[in-house]
Amino acid sequence: MNAPVPPPAHPSGVPTLTRPCPICGTANAGAPALPGSRDGWDIVACSACGFAHMPAVPRGEALVETLAWEAQYAREGERRKRRQPILHWLDARTRWRLHLFPRAEGVDLLNRAAPSGPALDLGCGTGSNLARLDARFAPHGIEISKALAAQADVYARARGGSVVHASALEGLGAFPDGFFTAALLRSYLEHDWQAREVLTALHAKMAPGGLAAVKVPNYGSWNRRIMGARWCGFRLPDHVNYFDPASLRRLGEEAGFTVRIRRRHALPLDDNVLALLER
Ligand SMILES: [Zn+2]
Repeated sequence: MNAPVPPPAHPSGVPTLTRPCPICGTANAGAPALPGSRDGWDIVACSACGFAHMPAVPRGEALVETLAWEAQYAREGERRKRRQPILHWLDARTRWRLHLFPRAEGVDLLNRAAPSGPALDLGCGTGSNLARLDARFAPHGIEISKALAAQADVYARARGGSVVHASALEGLGAFPDGFFTAALLRSYLEHDWQAREVLTALHAKMAPGGLAAVKVPNYGSWNRRIMGARWCGFRLPDHVNYFDPASLRRLGEEAGFTVRIRRRHALPLDDNVLALLER
């Protein structure tokens, strides 16, 4: 009997899957690696639309089991300090850049502008952002880490909401169409290799007039150009998509949303892009 063909793997043994550009669908496997690539994980520029992304990404089960976001984040901080102590220090000390303009987080925008009703935090972690939603929202979450989902669910249920332990696409499928009046995707979309499918599914689950606040690292920032491969937005292999305002707008619009990029004039100075997507 023939042995099953193993999926392609990263040199470390982490199983991977290959995907086309999430913005335009062009296959880019084998394209030259951009600065910021490391340890056999490549970031490439799409040959058709220029979008920076990883064409080969860890398979979902590998992400859940060994590259859980919470652990990966801690490891990346340590790696930076170890390899580039001066640049890490500089990056941390130049966080003042982020405070040149009044800070508006996605959750603040939702509290201010979204219609009352069920609100979703995609990748809700422990539920810390659910807790920041005004009382007029019923907080719901989707979280792929079982332990974090269980923790957040206790909080959400006390406020009439719920947390689903699932991937984004599976979790969205658990809710009725037109359900959410608000959604928060904070540091989420850069992690999901199915960003287009997730935004399209989210659009179906939003009520007309509902608002989604989306925050991602800004690959178009001056800081990324200055810091090069040492830019704080590179986090491999868990950041698989590298958005700038134009690519985030395009993906949101093609998923069916009206897209407004926040603080547009300050964006080159900002390491993040914050957008409001209206259904
Ligand atoms: Zn493309």
